[in-house]
Amino acid sequence: MEKKKVKYFQSALQEIRIEIVGGVEKLQNNGKNDEVEHMPDISDDAARAYDRKLQGDLEEQEWNKLKQVEAALEKVENGEYGICDQCEKKIPEARLKIIPYTEFCTHCLSEIEKKSSLDDQETENTKEP
Ligand SMILES: [Zn+2]
Repeated sequence: MEKKKVKYFQSALQEIRIEIVGGVEKLQNNGKNDEVEHMPDISDDAARAYDRKLQGDLEEQEWNKLKQVEAALEKVENGEYGICDQCEKKIPEARLKIIPYTEFCTHCLSEIEKKSSLDDQETENTKEP
């Protein structure tokens, strides 16, 4: 993928991350914080604590999204952005434009969704307490 395009998706990803994380911070500050774009500078240790703190505050869905966004940003760093985790083929840019943090190409995702919906049906009555 062209560097210019990667940059575009990278900033889109960063915006999504700020949206998720910023939403939590806003909540904690009771709405008094207007600087949603502020991202804290965090060391490794602090990052772990921060992770735990955030995890407690975020809805599971938002948390999963955040993890996907961070994985995608990591891929940007490694020059692997836009590659499907499953089949290692290129993910169509049209798809990345809709979901910049997607991990799989359309084909693999539909396979995974098929599988997971089957799993859901099978495990519905055997969920752990
Ligand atoms: Zn794939």
